[in-house]
Amino acid sequence: MTSLVIQTAFLGDVVLTTPLLEALAVRHGPVDVVSTPAAAPLVETHPAVRRVIPYDKKGQDRGLAGLMRLARTLRAERYECAYLPHRSLRSALAAWLARIPRRVGFDDGWRSLYTDVRRRANRGHEIDRLLALVGEDARRGRPSLHITIADRAATEGFLREHGIGAEFIALAPGSIWGSKRWPYYRELAERLAGRMGIVVVGGPEDAGLATEITEAVARSGGHAVSGCRRLTLRQSAEAIRRAAVLVTNDSAPLHFAQAVGTPAVAIFGSTVPAFGFGPRGPRDQVVELDDLPCRPCSAHGPPSCPLGHHRCMRSLTVERVLHAIEETGALRRRD
Ligand code: SF4
Repeated sequence: MTSLVIQTAFLGDVVLTTPLLEALAVRHGPVDVVSTPAAAPLVETHPAVRRVIPYDKKGQDRGLAGLMRLARTLRAERYECAYLPHRSLRSALAAWLARIPRRVGFDDGWRSLYTDVRRRANRGHEIDRLLALVGEDARRGRPSLHITIADRAATEGFLREHGIGAEFIALAPGSIWGSKRWPYYRELAERLAGRMGIVVVGGPEDAGLATEITEAVARSGGHAVSGCRRLTLRQSAEAIRRAAVLVTNDSAPLHFAQAVGTPAVAIFGSTVPAFGFGPRGPRDQVVELDDLPCRPCSAHGPPSCPLGHHRCMRSLTVERVLHAIEETGALRRRD
């Protein structure tokens, strides 16, 4: 029996769903996954996955016609069970319209469309909360990504082409939520420039930020390159895997680092690790402001600071982040 998992949330959410996919695959064999086209590359090579069905909910599959098209596709597969980790009406409706007899979702979702309702814990790490959907106990699971030989070769070629040696730091300055962006990556990169190479990772939308960083590093006599628009998602994950350490906001690259085992310095502003999306590796470091009354101010982080001052991020100095990098031990063992 092939199970179906519908997970059309953000890239990071898809990465955090991989332990759930693995748990299902152990029981029933590889699963089918519905994801956005953007997230599909993160799971299409995963051994726990048989097939990825892309659902372009904001593009060509937008609206009722697209939802009905997805439901028809799913119905033809005659799945016996669908797992719905994402609190999404579209996902719940797709499984219901596809007449999948068993539909398992969380109690904060669309209960009337599910046949099995599980309690979503309001504490703990998101990985463990998602595993509860299949009745697995929390076990400090880690996400996983399966990077192909071709991805590895492409990343290696990219780094070599741009003169980045074996030792470098990865920076991920972006986030779709503006209040989660730490504003001092350029200054951090200038301080790091003399120590080792820098690779900026992110999506096409981060290319402008990345250029500011690489140009500032060049002016400081250092060496930095941007992978934005140049590396695919899995190639970016491979760049992070090869890095000594990743400095990132509370965004998808943090979960990539968890998946590939690279220590991370995670900078939290409008959100907090207690929401369940923090790092959990032994060398990982969190940089955040403990005593700001307005923090956290929303579950995802608003597009901009509602109070205008963005103190949660602006008060986090480059020195604090440099100290956190040192604390990972990533640079020490290379000095
Ligand atoms: S309200 Fe506070 S926590 Fe929210 S973005 Fe502004 S400074 Fe940060």
